[in-house]
Amino acid sequence: MPSFPFQIAARDGAARTGTLTTRRGDIRTPAFMPVGTAATVKAMMPESVAETGADILLGNTYHLMLRPGAERIDRLGGLHRFMNWDRPILTDSGGFQVMSLASLRKLTEDGVTFASHIDGSRHHLTPERSMEIQRLLGSDIVMAFDECPALPATDDQVAASMRLSMRWAQRSRDAFGDRSGHALFGIMQGGINRELREESAEALRSIGFDGYAIGGLAVGEGQAAMFDVLDYAPGLLPDDQPRYLMGVGKPDDIVGAVQRGVDMMDCVLPSRSGRTGQAWTARGQVNIKNARHADDPRPLDESCTCPACSRYSRAYLHHVFRAGEMISGMLLTWHNLHYYQQLMAGLRGAIAGARLDDFVAVFHAEREKGDIPPL
Ligand SMILES: [Zn+2]
Repeated sequence: MPSFPFQIAARDGAARTGTLTTRRGDIRTPAFMPVGTAATVKAMMPESVAETGADILLGNTYHLMLRPGAERIDRLGGLHRFMNWDRPILTDSGGFQVMSLASLRKLTEDGVTFASHIDGSRHHLTPERSMEIQRLLGSDIVMAFDECPALPATDDQVAASMRLSMRWAQRSRDAFGDRSGHALFGIMQGGINRELREESAEALRSIGFDGYAIGGLAVGEGQAAMFDVLDYAPGLLPDDQPRYLMGVGKPDDIVGAVQRGVDMMDCVLPSRSGRTGQAWTARGQVNIKNARHADDPRPLDESCTCPACSRYSRAYLHHVFRAGEMISGMLLTWHNLHYYQQLMAGLRGAIAGARLDDFVAVFHAEREKGDIPPL
């Protein structure tokens, strides 16, 4: 019996829309989860993140275990209270970020030993310790501890890594125990190899989880290869449980993933781009640094109701970015998160109305047009 009831309200092709019910509130799916790496979505107040329409945030185990430490967050009342976010939180297991951020890594059957990217201190992370850290944080959705091989990797390397992750998935399940009100998701691996994906899905299903993630994608394989995997991977997982595609993505990645049956996604892209002067709109990407905006009194996106678009001009956004003012990252991050959540709401409505194909056609046609012409 899953910890969180997942109700699918409508389907359109492989896509689904529904609600994942948690004790901290409902998550409307397909859902996009902003990333709150170090107990904050950078440049955003939590109430503003909620205003953009986010039902759930992602927190990073790797970052939080190193600074300020899981035990400290527990003593301070848990991550929700610590960061002033009372809605659901999903935490990753730390495995992926150890591989991408830490140095001096040593991988064994037991787990991974590594040096912190902050101060070089030594740490050991295992499935059991990852479950303990995520429990101390008070995470609502806990991810099984896994390993994702660095690309390029041979099929043999991907297979060995996937099988290790499946043994760790069993250890994660055992260590997680029976925690009412908290969910544990397993993570499918296997790279872009269908047989390995099938083997991984079978292993996870026999262990049994509250939801299932598709890991090991969006790691540099390219959109076409990712979509090839998503053409079959969601179908290998239980139909009546949530499917989470980790670390995706750009707006067109998200639309393609939803069309293929993905229910949840997360990515740093909207917040990270907001701090580097990149805005995402229905008509594609806008680089606010560009000199063409310096005298432009028009909003970034006329149809957008976010504070950046309803109260400020392109000229202002250009100026504050060029001047290195903090409000630049604040406004563009807000806009980007708002755009992403509007896109998710549009996708949910289109699936509910059985008009997803039309929605996707308009989505691509608008992007084809590119940004509004300069004045
Ligand atoms: Zn806006």
